[in-house]
Amino acid sequence: MGKIHELSEILSNQIAAGEVIERPASVVKELAENAIDANSTQIDIVIEQAGLQLVQVIDNGDGIEPDDVSTAFKRHATSKITTRQDLFKIQSLGFRGEALASIASVSDLTIETATANSLGTFAHFKGGILQTQKTSPIRPGTAITVRDLFFNTPARLKYVKTFQTELANVIDIVNRLAMSHPQIAFTLTNDDHLLMKTAGNDDLQQTIAGIYGVTMAKQLLSISAEDLDFKLTGYVSLPQLTRASRNYLSIMINGRYIKNYQLNKAIIKGYGSKLMVGRYPVAVLNIQMDPLLIDVNVHPTKQEVRLSKEPALMTLIEKAIYGRLRTENLIPDAVQNL
Ligand code: ADP
Ligand code: MG
Repeated sequence: MGKIHELSEILSNQIAAGEVIERPASVVKELAENAIDANSTQIDIVIEQAGLQLVQVIDNGDGIEPDDVSTAFKRHATSKITTRQDLFKIQSLGFRGEALASIASVSDLTIETATANSLGTFAHFKGGILQTQKTSPIRPGTAITVRDLFFNTPARLKYVKTFQTELANVIDIVNRLAMSHPQIAFTLTNDDHLLMKTAGNDDLQQTIAGIYGVTMAKQLLSISAEDLDFKLTGYVSLPQLTRASRNYLSIMINGRYIKNYQLNKAIIKGYGSKLMVGRYPVAVLNIQMDPLLIDVNVHPTKQEVRLSKEPALMTLIEKAIYGRLRTENLIPDAVQNL
């Protein structure tokens, strides 16, 4: 008799959860991204104790049909891709079909969801096991409530930092999601305090004002640039408005917030010699490109991506910022020759 056996679905989901669900902010990110993919125009995020007690994401999006609810919580179950070809032209934020299965496996989770044409559904999972499913009167949209995160994975719970750190992480991710989707109205509430609210009127500068404050938003210059492969729009700060960390640099590609050291470097280079050592500008850049030029299937959290024309994009960003600052006479011609 051999020693090797397949792991149970519950156990393999918990293992997968280790990669995707690191902390409360990961739950917020995955649930809010699902809400965005479901064409929501309003997304309300309610957390308690920085999300360790409770994370609730309520959207007014497409909802899930009753028959699909239990499937949505299976690993590798998704409505977003079907064929291998789809993998090379990802338009949605999700596609791996892992988030719901992972989150449910390490928490106590309830979902209420309805489409425009179906009865609503309520379901309750604990540690990934379905406890109840019944019809529920709910307007079209989805509300998912996650309690007792990591109750059954004590090592992971131990790894979670202070409330302040976890809350800062949640705020950070919600801010980036809101800035990459100015057409969606977001709210974030922690322990009954409203922390963030955006109008959802598709005005990026107003969205930034809702996040970083009106004073900062007023000190931003709009930029736009385009070449055959990329379309770039966004806001960058005047050279005198700087911050001590790169944390105020936000780059979104096709609506996905990504982390990319090289593109950050291009933003900074766009300021020529105008920035003091250790100071960084504020920038929010939305880049549109053919999905064929970007591989998002690099890491489970999908924040790290591979770009097939990265040097060209770097040049476009640097030139756009440099050119804009020069038209404002904020950079003398002689500083840099592009
Ligand atoms: P993925 O987002 O990669 O497809 P998830 O596990 O996050 O995988 O979600 C599984 C499926 O459940 C999604 O493909 C989608 O069809 C459905 N779903 C999840 N959240 C929502 C939501 N808020 N509104 C509508 N459908 C949802
Ligand atoms: Mg998802």
